[in-house]
Amino acid sequence: MSDVCLLGATGSIGDSALDVIRQHRERFSLRSIAAHSNVQKMADISKEYPDAKLALFDENSATELQRVTGKKVFAGMEGLLELVADCDLVVNGLTGSVGCEPTLKAIECGKKIALANKETLVMAGEIIKEALKKNPNAKIMPVDSEHNAIFQCLAGCKNAEIESLQITASGGPFRELPAEKFSEITLKDALNHPVWSMGKKITIDSASMMNKGLEVIEAHFLFGVPYEQIKVVVHPQSMVHSLVQFRDGNLMAQLGAPDMRIPILCAMAFPERLHLETKRLSLPEIQKLTFFEPDFKKFPCLTLAYEAGKAGGTRAAVLNAANEVLVNAFMQQKISFLDIPRGIEHCLSKIAEPGGELNLEKILFADSNAREAARNFLD
Ligand code: MG
Repeated sequence: MSDVCLLGATGSIGDSALDVIRQHRERFSLRSIAAHSNVQKMADISKEYPDAKLALFDENSATELQRVTGKKVFAGMEGLLELVADCDLVVNGLTGSVGCEPTLKAIECGKKIALANKETLVMAGEIIKEALKKNPNAKIMPVDSEHNAIFQCLAGCKNAEIESLQITASGGPFRELPAEKFSEITLKDALNHPVWSMGKKITIDSASMMNKGLEVIEAHFLFGVPYEQIKVVVHPQSMVHSLVQFRDGNLMAQLGAPDMRIPILCAMAFPERLHLETKRLSLPEIQKLTFFEPDFKKFPCLTLAYEAGKAGGTRAAVLNAANEVLVNAFMQQKISFLDIPRGIEHCLSKIAEPGGELNLEKILFADSNAREAARNFLD
């Protein structure tokens, strides 16, 4: 039996994780739930799991949840960290950079972490790696479907045996849209993902292919593979979740229905495999799977992410923070779709590397500077 702390309980990963827990009450007990600010949904989950401890990142929302439920509600980053310290397994499904500190705390406490928050590794990959070395009991199991696929393909292999990681991308809704039409893209177009049903921020990131760029950086830190050996392959059906090419000519792929409950359960139950009530893939029904090279010209976010990753330091934190602000502005229809990569480039050029040894303060400082530079770009 594992006591689970679910961060990001009210989001899309939270929904899927709650369903996985419902299907395996004999294995997982929901110890605590936390979210950013969704009071109503937290109150609903708390009704189903009355013993689960509660936390909200947004302090006003925490006060409101306390009023609605009559229960103690932990508040702010401190509240989240408190819950993380008291469980066996952390499922981190938070969106954005707020997910970083809880992951670090979970590592320091030697927890098992099912990690869906890719920003953790994008922002602070170096620091996470160091923290994992110091806390050998802690373990990160990737939930992001691509990384979960690679994790499964690698099972027990040595890094020297890897020739390349091949991360698949659906290509998003604009894969076939000609470059000259990109200036006309609306919010509604960008939110219309052809395969996956996900949170809004990640759906926009998929449309710009920034999501894939962030995943390249995530893969670099998770698996310790150089950027030169990480490739992106466009695969519109999203049935092959990623592949590993080995030096002996073997190419391993992982397939499954595009359902996040599959990687979530895999990560939560590892190294066991538990039953999951979900659709099975039928290859004769699918008949055809297709693969393409990504178009770096049409999707500059992909290039920006590779460059930021390779440059190291706080570059990826700047890229990530600028992207969050700009995607938010795009969702409020304040900027165009093409302004997202333009704004990110602007921020990367404005913010200098701090130099010296990298630490969390420098990363968080670069993150807040990037947000400010992105807001200035909007004015
Ligand atoms: Mg993914």
